[in-house]
Amino acid sequence: MNDARPAISDLSDQALVAWLRERGEPAYRARQIRRHATHGAARSPVELTDLPKPLREALAASFRWSAVELVREEASADGETRKALLRLADGHHIESVLMPHHGARNAVCVSTQAGCPMACAFCATGEMGLVRDLTVGEIVDQIRHWQRELAHRGERVSHVVYMGMGEPLHNYRSTTGSARTLMDPEHFGISPRRITVSTCGVVPKMDALAAEGLPINLAVSLHAADDETRGAIMPINRKWGVEEVLAASARYVKKTKRRVTFEYVMLAGVNDSERTARDLAAAIRRHLRAADAHVNLIPYNAGPGGFRRPAVPRMERFAEILHEGGVAATLRISRGQDIAAGCGQLKVPEGKAAAV
Ligand code: SAH
Repeated sequence: MNDARPAISDLSDQALVAWLRERGEPAYRARQIRRHATHGAARSPVELTDLPKPLREALAASFRWSAVELVREEASADGETRKALLRLADGHHIESVLMPHHGARNAVCVSTQAGCPMACAFCATGEMGLVRDLTVGEIVDQIRHWQRELAHRGERVSHVVYMGMGEPLHNYRSTTGSARTLMDPEHFGISPRRITVSTCGVVPKMDALAAEGLPINLAVSLHAADDETRGAIMPINRKWGVEEVLAASARYVKKTKRRVTFEYVMLAGVNDSERTARDLAAAIRRHLRAADAHVNLIPYNAGPGGFRRPAVPRMERFAEILHEGGVAATLRISRGQDIAAGCGQLKVPEGKAAAV
C-alpha cells in the first residue's frame, strides 16, 4: 500500500518552518526536529519527548519519519560490512551498505536509483534495468538509516560514496541535492572531502558537476583503456568514449582542484593484460598529472556476464605497470561479498523490485 504522506527528508527547511508556523510553533523547532531526524536514534517523532505532545502527534500524522523502511539487514561473516534492503513508499526496493573501518570511519554506500539504466555487462544492478530515480529524501534517508543504528554506540556516518545501485549523474538533481544536504552543517555536516560520487562517464553531467561548486570527489568507472574493449562491456561508451571521459575527468580536476579516482574492474582475459596496463597508464597521463589521478583496481565480484577474476599475481603486475607508467594504483578487494554487498553486486531479487 502506498503512503501519501511526504517524507520529512523531502521537505525543504522553509516548508518545515511554514508548516510549524501554521500550527503556531516557533521556527526554532525546525532545527530541533532536523537534529533529531539527522543524528538521533528515534524511530518515530512520537519518541521526541522534548517536543510538545500535540506537535509530536501532528508530525507523525503529516510526515513519514523516513523515506526508506528497513525490510532486512545482513552482516558479512567478519561482522563488519552490513547491507540493508530498504523499501520505498511506493513498494520498490533498494539496497544500501555500511562499511565500518577499524572504528575509525563509517562509510556508507548509497543508491541513487532503484535499478540502473546503464546495463554494464558485468554488473548485477544493470541487469535490473531502471526502475526509477530516487528523491533527495530517499538518498539522504539511507544515511539516516545507518546513522540511527550507529547512534546507539555514539558513532556517526563519516564518509559517503555514491556507489550503490544506479548511475548518480543520471539522477543529477537528487545526487547534487542530497550531497548539499550531507554537507550542510545544519544537517549532516559531512566534509565534502569525504563524499565521493561515482559515474560510468556521463560526460555533460561531469562538466555540470564540476561547475556546481561542490568540492566533492569524483570517481570514474573506466574499466578499459580503449573504445573497443570499453564499448563491449559498457554501452555508455558508444556515447562518450575513453578519450572524452578522460578529457572530462581532467576538466573536473582543473575546475575543482580535486583528484579523480578511476575505478577499474579486473576481468580475466578482457582488460587485464600487461599491454592494456601500459596503454591505460599512457592514456591517463595524456590527460592528467600523476598527482591528479589514482586507479582503484577492483577484482571482479561474482556477477553477470560470465566473467572471471584474474589471478592475484596478474592483478599485482597490472598495478605495478601502472606505477611504472606514472599512475598510482591500489588493488582493492571489495568487502561483503559473502552477502553480495561488493561492488556491482547490489540487486533486488525478482518480484521485490515490483511495486506491491
Ligand atoms: N553507476 C556508477 C555508480 C556505481 S559504483 C558507476 O558506474 O560508477 C559501482 C562500481 O562497481 C562501478 O565502478 C562498477 O563498474 C563496479 N562494478 C560493477 N559490477 C562489478 C562487479 N561484478 N565486480 C566489481 N565491480 C563491479
